[in-house]
Amino acid sequence: MGLMVILGLLGAAMGSFAALVAERLVRGEPFVAARSRCLSCDTPLGARDLVPLLSWPLLRGRCRHCGAAIPPVLWQAEILGAAMGMAAACAAPDPARALLLALWMWSLLALAIADLRWFRLPEPLMACAAILGLALALAGDGSGWPGLSMRASTAILGAAVGGGVFWAVREGYFRLTGREGMALGDVFMLATLGLALGPARLPMVVLFAAATTLVLALMRAQRKGRAMRRLGRVPFGAALALSGVLVAILPAMA
Ligand SMILES: [Zn+2]
Repeated sequence: MGLMVILGLLGAAMGSFAALVAERLVRGEPFVAARSRCLSCDTPLGARDLVPLLSWPLLRGRCRHCGAAIPPVLWQAEILGAAMGMAAACAAPDPARALLLALWMWSLLALAIADLRWFRLPEPLMACAAILGLALALAGDGSGWPGLSMRASTAILGAAVGGGVFWAVREGYFRLTGREGMALGDVFMLATLGLALGPARLPMVVLFAAATTLVLALMRAQRKGRAMRRLGRVPFGAALALSGVLVAILPAMA
């Protein structure tokens, strides 16, 4: 219970940090701790404007000084980050593994935000998710079974199968149509998820991601009043990342 609260609060902070890291990486900005400012009136935001989870709803999504709308993305990231932290506390067998699981999820959250907002999956974030995913697989569930070498080979097999299948789909689509149907980032994403989850759970990840993407595309089509086939790009990488998180915590919730 205590761990759930700690990882939940840490998750709220990590959620907005994930959004910040995604933005800085996509825009190529340095990581200096610049103070947050209102994008409209340039007023520096004070401590009470930056309380995780609470500030945005209390301000009703508006700047205290000029009344300009504050995009809800930070707030949404905080909620997702907190939910991931709490889920990790429930799903993992001990605090150290819970923290590792949560860090892996937060790195995927940052990737999902970058893909949803800018259709980008920054390589440093992907490398981070891959390293954390491999660590997660090697750490196991604490029971000592299966053994370390077995866990390592399952992780490598997961990455090979995930990356290999999507690479083949991408290559096949390109040969057939002459167009790029799947981004290379999505291939890396499934390989990265395969490291943490192993090959057996990847079909479920892809199924969830396809369903999520379809729903997202329908929502966007409706909002923009356009036909589905004219929508162009869909944030499939984000759907994969969030589905991977869901599949990782599913056994604990069942
Ligand atoms: Zn303002």
